[in-house]
Amino acid sequence: MSRSILVRRSPIHGNGVFAATDLPAGKSLIEYRGKLLRHAVADRRYCDNVETGHTFLFVLNDTYVIDGTEGGNSARWINHSCDPNCEPMLWESKDGDPARDRLFIETLRPVKAGEELTYDYGIELEVRYTPRLKQLWACRCGSPQCTGTLLKPKSRKKKA
Ligand SMILES: [Zn+2]
Repeated sequence: MSRSILVRRSPIHGNGVFAATDLPAGKSLIEYRGKLLRHAVADRRYCDNVETGHTFLFVLNDTYVIDGTEGGNSARWINHSCDPNCEPMLWESKDGDPARDRLFIETLRPVKAGEELTYDYGIELEVRYTPRLKQLWACRCGSPQCTGTLLKPKSRKKKA
């Protein structure tokens, strides 16, 4: 892990990742690593995942999902926020091979040492958002813009 970030308990959820030093905007901090799974495989393996309110899956592109539970690094501990200070940046492979695309977490704005790093998970589930489901995916980011849930309003886009 780079010296610019560190992992410790988070007031939002479980472990979190924090700035170890003051960070400028637009700084690439860490790659989101893990095993690449095809969407169908991830869907089969984690079909019960909607009931956990927790995920280490990250949609890389139309073909692959990154599974941080296998071979993942500290990036999987970065929590969601409705008012994030980081964002995931896709580095598309030059040869067009989707398995060679990579995801890096980058600061959106200057971040002070000690601040928790967050990004918007943008989770969109295929199932209907019942009050119970929203409760399972409750957001505790504490920002004034908090929507109360990690689930993103449904768009007409294809499921992530
Ligand atoms: Zn929130």
